Amino acid sequence: MRKGLVAHTHDWGFIFAADSDEVSPMSAAEKQVLIVGGGLAGLACAIRLHEAGARPLIFEAGDGVGGRVRTDEVEGFLLDRGFQVFLDAYPEAGTLLDMKNLDLRAFKPGALIYQPSGMRRIMDVFREPRHLVESALAPVGSFADKLRVATLRWRLMRSSTATIAANEDISTESYLKRLGFSSRMINGFFRSFYGGIFLERELRTSSRMFEFTFKMFSQGSATLPARGMGEIPRQLALRLPPDTVRLGARVVEISPRSITLDSGETFPGHAVVVATDATAAADFTETTAPHWRSVACLYFAAPRSPLGEAIIALNGSGSGLVNNVCAPSDVAPGYAPSGQALISVSVLGSPDPADLEARVVAELESWFGRQVREWRHLRTYQIDRALPVQLPVDGLTGSGYREKSGILLCGDHHWSASIEGAIISGQRAADAILKSSSSPLQTP
Ligand SMILES: Cc1cc2nc3c(=O)[nH]c(=O)nc-3n(C[C@H](O)[C@H](O)[C@H](O)COP(=O)(O)OP(=O)(O)OC[C@H]3O[C@@H](n4cnc5c(N)ncnc54)[C@H](O)[C@@H]3O)c2cc1C
Repeated sequence: MRKGLVAHTHDWGFIFAADSDEVSPMSAAEKQVLIVGGGLAGLACAIRLHEAGARPLIFEAGDGVGGRVRTDEVEGFLLDRGFQVFLDAYPEAGTLLDMKNLDLRAFKPGALIYQPSGMRRIMDVFREPRHLVESALAPVGSFADKLRVATLRWRLMRSSTATIAANEDISTESYLKRLGFSSRMINGFFRSFYGGIFLERELRTSSRMFEFTFKMFSQGSATLPARGMGEIPRQLALRLPPDTVRLGARVVEISPRSITLDSGETFPGHAVVVATDATAAADFTETTAPHWRSVACLYFAAPRSPLGEAIIALNGSGSGLVNNVCAPSDVAPGYAPSGQALISVSVLGSPDPADLEARVVAELESWFGRQVREWRHLRTYQIDRALPVQLPVDGLTGSGYREKSGILLCGDHHWSASIEGAIISGQRAADAILKSSSSPLQTP
C-alpha cells in the first residue's frame, strides 16, 4: 500500500461533527486518537490526551519509544544515539517529567576551549565565580566580549519565551555581530559551542532559537539523566496505559479517521495525529521535505577521562574534524563500567566514514596527548536526520502544530528543534483535539 494521505476535504473542526448527532455514550473507538510516531512529541501528545480521558494509541515504526532520544547499552556503557543534553530549565519538559526520578547530573556551566596553544577555560562566572579571573583573562574573545555575554545573559534571563518568540528573527551570526561580539569571540567560542547545539558552525540558525537556548543555559544546567537520555521517553511511556504503544508498527497510509500499517492492518479512530520527524510527515502530506543538520557521534572506551571533570571541550582552533568532546561518565558515572571512562566526540555533518575513528583519535592527540592511543572505539552513530534546519523566521513561530486535510501534524519541526519543542508541539496538538468545538473529548 502506498504511503500517503488519503485526500479529505473537510476542515479540522468537522472531524468530530460527523458523530455529534449521536447521543449514545462515547464508545472506546470514539475516544480513540491514533498517533503516528512514538518520539517525544507523540508521547507528550498521548499523555495529554490520556489525562483528559481519551484513548491514545501510538504506532511506532522502531523497536522502542524515544525517536531521536534513545540510549543503547554496549558492553556496560550507555551510548546515547548522538550526544545531546537535557536543559533542566526547559519549562514544559520540566513540568511534564518527574525530574527527581530522572536523577539529572549537571555539566559545569562553561566550557574548555581547545586552541593550538593549549586548553582555555571560559565559565559562567555568575555561577562559578572562582573562575572569574581565569575566564576574564582567557584569550577567547576580548574582555569587552565577556561583558557583552554578561549583558546578554541579564537581558535574556528577564525575557519571557513569548517575548523572544516575538523578537526579530535573523541569523545567529548576524545577531552576534549586531551585538558587537568580535570575530575572535564568534569564531573561537560561539561557532563551536552553538555548533554543538545547532549542528552547524556557520550560525545560520534562527536568532530566536539562539536567544531561547542561551536563556535556558543561563537559567539552568545542561544535564544527563543518570541512566542515559533514553530515560526521558521511557519515563513518559510509563505514564501511559500498557497497551498504548505499538512498536514495530510502520504506518503507510493515513486518513482523518484511520491509519493503515505496512502489515495491512487498519485502525479506526476519532482523530489522527502525525508525530513523526519532518521528512516522514512530508511523505504523508506530499509536501516538500525540509533540509536537515547531520552529525556523527563517536564513542570510545578509555582507562580514564582526558578531562577529569563534568565539562564540554570545544574546538576553538578553527580547523579540524572534531567539534566537541566530553566524557559523559564524568557527568553521570553510570555511563561507563566502574574503572573506565566513556568518551563522546561529535563531528558535524556527514564525514567520510573511511578511517573516521582513526582520524578523530589522531586529531585528539593534539588536544589530550598520547593517552588517546589507549582509547578503544565502541560505536559511531551517523545521524543524518538529526535536527531540521531552523532558519530565521522558523524559530518558535506558529501554533506548535499544523492541520492538513483533517489531520494534525506535530513534532519538533513545528516549534523548536529540541526536546522542549517536541514536547510543546505534542501537547498543543492534543489541546487542539480536546478543544475542538465538536469534539466528544472537549475540555473547557
Ligand atoms: C544528535 C542529536 C542531538 C540533539 N541535541 C539536543 C539537545 O542537546 N537538546 C535538545 O533539547 N534537543 C536535542 N536534539 C533534538 C531532539 O532530540 C529532537 O528535537 C526531539 O527528540 C524530536 O522529537 P520528535 O518527537 O519531534 O521526533 P522524533 O524523535 O523524530 O520522533 C518521531 C518518531 O516517529 C517514528 N516514525 C516515523 N515514521 C513513522 C511511520 N511511518 N510509522 C510509525 N512511526 C514512524 C520514528 O521512528 C520516531 O520514533 C538533538 C537531536 C539529535 C538527533
